[in-house]
Amino acid sequence: MTLAGVTQVDHETKVRTIAATMRERAERGEIVDNVDKGAVKHVVPLHGAARYRHAPLNMRDLDEIIQIDAERRICVAESAVTFSDVVEATLAYGLLPKVVPELKGITLGGAVVGCSVESMSFRYGGFHDSCLEYELVTGTGEVVTCSRESDPDIFEMVHGSYGTLALLTRLTFELIPAAPYVHLTYRTFTTADSFHAAMRGEVAADRVDFIDGIVHSPHRFVLCLGELVDEAPYVSDYSRSKVYYASTASREEDYLTTADYCFRYDTDCHWLTRKVPPLQWAPVRALAGPRLLGSTNLIRMSRLESKVSRKKRPDVVCDVFIPSRRFQEFFDWYRDEFRFFPLWVVPYRPPRDYPWIAPDFMDSSRDDLYIDCAIYGRDNNEPDRDYAKLLEQEVYELAGLKTLIGRNSYTPERFWTIYNRPNWQKAKSRLDPLGVLPDLYGHVGRVGDEHSEAT
Ligand SMILES: Cc1cc2nc3c(=O)[nH]c(=O)nc-3n(C[C@H](O)[C@H](O)[C@H](O)COP(=O)(O)OP(=O)(O)OC[C@H]3O[C@@H](n4cnc5c(N)ncnc54)[C@H](O)[C@@H]3O)c2cc1C
Repeated sequence: MTLAGVTQVDHETKVRTIAATMRERAERGEIVDNVDKGAVKHVVPLHGAARYRHAPLNMRDLDEIIQIDAERRICVAESAVTFSDVVEATLAYGLLPKVVPELKGITLGGAVVGCSVESMSFRYGGFHDSCLEYELVTGTGEVVTCSRESDPDIFEMVHGSYGTLALLTRLTFELIPAAPYVHLTYRTFTTADSFHAAMRGEVAADRVDFIDGIVHSPHRFVLCLGELVDEAPYVSDYSRSKVYYASTASREEDYLTTADYCFRYDTDCHWLTRKVPPLQWAPVRALAGPRLLGSTNLIRMSRLESKVSRKKRPDVVCDVFIPSRRFQEFFDWYRDEFRFFPLWVVPYRPPRDYPWIAPDFMDSSRDDLYIDCAIYGRDNNEPDRDYAKLLEQEVYELAGLKTLIGRNSYTPERFWTIYNRPNWQKAKSRLDPLGVLPDLYGHVGRVGDEHSEAT
């Protein structure tokens, strides 16, 4: 079926406009290092960083779903559509994307060119792994479509390219059958070892639909297991007074609607509300809820706060993928050096090697499972201790991978031992031969490091 609102013809008109703008900017020699897709950005704002020097290219109109084919379980949508809108539309057909990032304002395009991980990643990897086709506007203003089969050299490099290869304008991705509710059970552990073993056991058993974990303290690990169910004896609501992540420390089970489950961390943007304690008080939440809570509001407020405060460095906001065999080592280091909880933990199984990773690094890193550890909001103001750099170094030593959404301090040599330069350059020379889009290392490899002190 085709949804009302946008047709392929409408879409082509929008894309022609974007392609024409790209050609004009290429003719003027003006770099396109910033896109405006309407929704809030999830890359971390970095003072003094030269990440976005130029005027944003407008992609706001690409906010519609083109088709949901319930029989083939496929969705075709424009890239600025948010996951909140996709979940609402697909659930109407009893379907869900295979991977739904937990914040409502993340866009389909941002999740592919940046990163995405969540509680279905133990089975499906990242959202991009469920994508079948991309439509791209290249740096020369051409419109190309590619798939894993038709053009793997381009298709596979779009993930993790952070807008440096092409603009992603339309995606086709797979859906799975859903149910109206999610039944959650929580299992609590007192050691990292027993928690990790239980998580691995659940991944191997492949019996539940969703797996993630929250480490509330060095001695309180909660494994969260979710199953799609048709009926629920009650449903909890975490969109106002109650705080989802805190509930996992005391409950043994819970029921949520499936949409609420997908965005269970959204109201508090995981635990960002801890930075403003009144936002965790029930009466304040009951009164001010929709105006102050929710990831979009909270991220906007935190941007404002970081602009007016005189913090030297932004808080550490970063997902790191640790080979499962080295999780215990990472956790011991994190507990002693980082001391920041809660820590969100998500098992992630890439369905294949990603060709944007350098082959030697891939060989040292490869594991049957990665454990994504999401560090959301650690202060980084100690003058002699730069936690972002310490994390980057530790993750490298453990052959793990760090997402590039925050501050990065890589030297070019280190960066290109992790990322596959020949593959990126091959895709760059085909998609952006004039260099209208930024260089990967220059855009994200060392960014936000300008005003920091050495560790
Ligand atoms: C506080 C916080 C919490 C997070 N929590 C989660 C989570 O729970 N689950 C999860 O999966 N991820 C999470 N993330 C990571 C998030 O999914 C990624 O940062 C993702 O890339 C954000 O997408 P966006 O749509 O907001 O894009 P943006 O943040 O606006 O952009 C990301 C990059 O992609 C480029 N870009 C965006 N759209 C396009 C396009 N259409 N074509 C070409 N380039 C484009 C931008 O220029 C930029 O370089 C979190 C991030 C933060 C900061």
